[in-house]
Amino acid sequence: MRVIKHVRDMQEEALANLRRDASVGFVPTMGALHAGHLSLIERANSENECTIVSIFVNPTQFNEDRDFDSYPRTLEQDLDKCEAADVDIVFAPQAGEIYSPRYQTTIFVQQLTDHLCGLSRGRGHFVGVCSVVAKLFNLVMPTRAYFGQKDAQQAVIIQRMVEDLNFPVQIVVCPIVREPDGLAMSSRNALLPGHLRKDALVLRQALLRGQEMIRAKETDAAAIRKEMSLLILGNNRVDLDYINIVSLETLADVDKVEDMVMLAGAIRLGEVRLIDNIIVGPDGPWEE
Ligand code: AMP
Repeated sequence: MRVIKHVRDMQEEALANLRRDASVGFVPTMGALHAGHLSLIERANSENECTIVSIFVNPTQFNEDRDFDSYPRTLEQDLDKCEAADVDIVFAPQAGEIYSPRYQTTIFVQQLTDHLCGLSRGRGHFVGVCSVVAKLFNLVMPTRAYFGQKDAQQAVIIQRMVEDLNFPVQIVVCPIVREPDGLAMSSRNALLPGHLRKDALVLRQALLRGQEMIRAKETDAAAIRKEMSLLILGNNRVDLDYINIVSLETLADVDKVEDMVMLAGAIRLGEVRLIDNIIVGPDGPWEE
C-alpha cells in the first residue's frame, strides 16, 4: 500500500492508472475509519483493479469550528485498517495541499441542498462537500466512487453534480452499516459520552416507528412526522434537529406517502450531531 500526501503525486498516479487502463475504485473519507467505511472499501476492491481511499478532514464543510476541531483524527490506525483491507493507495493530504491561499472556486448544487442537512447545517456544508469531492475526482480520476447511504442527501447531491458537470465517474451507493443494536456507524459515535450512548438510539427508533405507520397504511406525512418527533422530544437528553419524510428524487417534504420515500433525521446529544435514514414504501421493503 502506498500513502500519498501530495497533490502532484496523486495526479501522476491517476494518470498512470489511466494509461494502463486500470479501473479505479475511490472511497473518499474523513478518516476515523469504521466498518461502514470498510464496507465501501470491500465493494470497491471487488469491482476495480485498484482501490484508492482518501483521508481528509475537509475544513470547508464544517460550519462550526468546534465540530472541526473535535472531529476524531486517527491516521495511524486508519492506515493499518486500509492495509489490512487491501487498499492500494491512501491519499492523505494536508489542508494546505488542497486549498492554496488563493483558492476561490466552489460548486453549488441548487434545490437539493434546500432540504434536510442543507437547512439545518446551512448550504455552505454541501458547497464544501461538493467542491472537495470535485477536486478529489480530478486528482484521483476514478472509474467508480463509493458513497454510503448513511449520508443519503450527500449521495443524491454528488450524483447530481456528476451528471450536471459530466464527471466520467460512476457513483455507487452502499447500504448503511449498523452497530448490533441498530445505531448507524459514524466516526462521531466515538465522541458520544458513554452515558448518552443508549439515548442515541432514539433516532433509529423514531424512524422505525415511522416505518411501522407506513406499513400500517398511514399515508398522512404530517401525522407520521408528528409521531416520530414526539418520540424524540420525549427524551430530554436529546435535541431534535429535524425529522422529515421526503421524496427520493427531490428531497423535498411529501404530503402523502403513496410511493417510496425517505425518512431522514438528525439529532444532537450535547456537542455530537448524528444522522440516520430509512427508505421505505407502503408495500415495503421493511427494515428490522
Ligand atoms: P465520512 O468519513 O463520515 O465522511 O464518510 C465517508 C463515506 O463513508 C461516506 O460516503 C459515508 O456515507 C460513508 N459511511 C459513513 N458511515 C457509514 C455507515 N455506517 N455505513 C455505510 N457507509 C458509511
